Amino acid sequence: MTPAEAQTRIAQLRTEVARHDELYYRQAQPQVSDLDYDRLKRELADLEAQFPQFASAASPTGQVGDDRSEGFQTYRHRQPMQSLDNTYSEAELREFHARLVKLLEREDLAYVVEPKIDGLAVSVTYEKGRLVRAVTRGNGVEGDDITANALTIRTLPRQLKASADAPIPDVIEVRGEIFMTLAEFQRINAEREEAGEALYANPRNLAAGTVKQLDSAEVARRKLEIVLYGLGFCEPVSALPATQAEYHGRVRAWGLPTVEKFWSVRGVDAVWAAVQELDRLRDTFAYATDGAVVKLDPLQLQREAGSTSKAPRWAMAYKFAAQRAETRLNAITIQVGRTGVLTPVAELEPVQLAGTTVSRATLHNRDEIARKDIRIGDWVQVEKAGEIIPAVVAVNVQRRTPECVPYVFPDRCPACSTAVVQFEGEVALRCPNRECPVQVRRRVGHFASKACMDIDGLGGAMVDVLVEKGWVRRVSDIYRLRREDLLTLGKSVEKSTDNLLAAIETSKRAELWRVIHGLGITHVGVAAAKDLAKHFGSLEALATAKLENFIREKKQSVIEGIGETMAQAIVGHFQDPANRALIDELRALGLAPVAPEKAAPTGTAFAGKTFVLTGTLPTMTRDEAAAKIEAAGGKVSGSVSKKTSYVVAGAEAGSKLAKAHELGVPVLDEAGLLRLLDEG
Ligand code: NAD
Repeated sequence: MTPAEAQTRIAQLRTEVARHDELYYRQAQPQVSDLDYDRLKRELADLEAQFPQFASAASPTGQVGDDRSEGFQTYRHRQPMQSLDNTYSEAELREFHARLVKLLEREDLAYVVEPKIDGLAVSVTYEKGRLVRAVTRGNGVEGDDITANALTIRTLPRQLKASADAPIPDVIEVRGEIFMTLAEFQRINAEREEAGEALYANPRNLAAGTVKQLDSAEVARRKLEIVLYGLGFCEPVSALPATQAEYHGRVRAWGLPTVEKFWSVRGVDAVWAAVQELDRLRDTFAYATDGAVVKLDPLQLQREAGSTSKAPRWAMAYKFAAQRAETRLNAITIQVGRTGVLTPVAELEPVQLAGTTVSRATLHNRDEIARKDIRIGDWVQVEKAGEIIPAVVAVNVQRRTPECVPYVFPDRCPACSTAVVQFEGEVALRCPNRECPVQVRRRVGHFASKACMDIDGLGGAMVDVLVEKGWVRRVSDIYRLRREDLLTLGKSVEKSTDNLLAAIETSKRAELWRVIHGLGITHVGVAAAKDLAKHFGSLEALATAKLENFIREKKQSVIEGIGETMAQAIVGHFQDPANRALIDELRALGLAPVAPEKAAPTGTAFAGKTFVLTGTLPTMTRDEAAAKIEAAGGKVSGSVSKKTSYVVAGAEAGSKLAKAHELGVPVLDEAGLLRLLDEG
């Protein structure tokens, strides 16, 4: 390669690596696998070493990947957080040891081998044993203050435990990783799938995306976990243990969650054996591991070995290669979700990968297919590593035959042929037809499912039949089903028909949260539906609630656990006239859900107060006013008594107003009510 060629390639690689860094660290949405990313970065580092004239301090090879993002306060680490050099090769791991032997002039080196946790690096500061701050790695020097989000982690103690063996320093930065368990990842993805939203590829991306949510209420809904394995700044320094192995003991003694297992070994052969044992065991750990971290054990030797600007010389990450397989892409099918999102799926020639047979893999969206130029008939590489859902990572263009022509994403819904649309700011294409049979099936199926109305006998197959027959076009049609129609579905179906109709009848008195969940509002899962039911007490109150009934000034949640994103989704849902109409229809058809005991928020001006509405208010309907009062913790009653706190009177108020005057109950007009709400 000539210097001019090298210069061009270096510039290309720097741009490419910087782009992937942005996607990975700040957006938590990488587009290439770690292996591919590491290859690019390695190529860049090799070229920079070969052509030192093009070296630059701004090159991503000399920097720690930067995760700082908009909306967070930054905080300077008292001791920088570094990255780690990494390798996929045993030979390079041995070279790492050989370098240290030479540098430290001793053969007999003790190491600790630890799991490399595939999460998001964090530094948690305790002052006099109390948690004061949690900060991301950021650019290594300063990171984002994510304390509010870290405090949602139940296993992270607010106070360290002191003991004779583990005294608590005045100030200590404890380092570790925030992660998400596989089970939680799958739970959230299942909810997203149900809501027709794009799926996260792996727990690491979801954990990183969650930590960087600005809304802590939203974070609390997703269960994050933490594991701590190292110490940063410590005051007084004398409080620090002498070895890495003792770090682990100390962290555990303080009551912090630690790694399940680490290995204390001597010499590089023992290191390699430990790395292999870790590879065999890692599936049993709570978190995803993408490698082993090998660290010199004595801190004194760590100090002697020192660091580069980016990583310590005394540690090395050995990364386990993701498992890949090459297979043929037989077809691309398009799935239509409940909200109409079109998701392309790769139908593969079945192939063995990481212990399972893979025959389908997600292709994410139209842009992804175009970017990777994936064509039907291609030989593609499928990968499954941290990626729990198998993904098509690349095409082997060498094996491409002339028949493989670029894939044209359908511009019509495969189920109903409606032209697809793309909403601003969204990658996904959607079928906008609310009557699209697939969407109807999914919506009705969701409504009737166990997690919602739990209507026995109305499973997937039955829903398909009802939609196909045209008897059910929307959720409310369930309550219009006629016995004589159902009896035409076959011989001897009388008993099952009566059972089904009875189950439908019973569902009219379902708990309110079941109906709310059944409506399929984006982001609203079971837990949120329960909170909403408790707070609003009726479908009408929920449907007429405004954003300010959910979010106070300074983005404070009115209902614990319901943050701004969800609030917007709820308000947006009911702005759609069809969704509002559904509520009225359901009520007219006899649906009368049972509200839970309402826990009136305490400490607000409205807690324990009863209001009576009378007359016509200038800007609000009485329902809207009632919803506002209830959202603020007040009760609305139909008749005036001595116990009534306020009567809200509009034009043409009659006997209730007179009664209020008679009993001396304070009377408000609409403006007065709004003022009171504001103060509340
Ligand atoms: P890294 O993840 O390779 O290693 C450093 C980090 O490992 C530390 O900051 C720490 O957070 C973590 N770690 C986990 N367990 C540890 C332990 N026991 N001891 C010490 N540290 C531990 O380095 P990085 O700089 O965060 O990221 C680089 C890696 O991220 C790359 O190798 C690549 O695989 C991945 N990446 C991927 C993309 C992509 O587009 N796919 C983009 C950027 C980075």
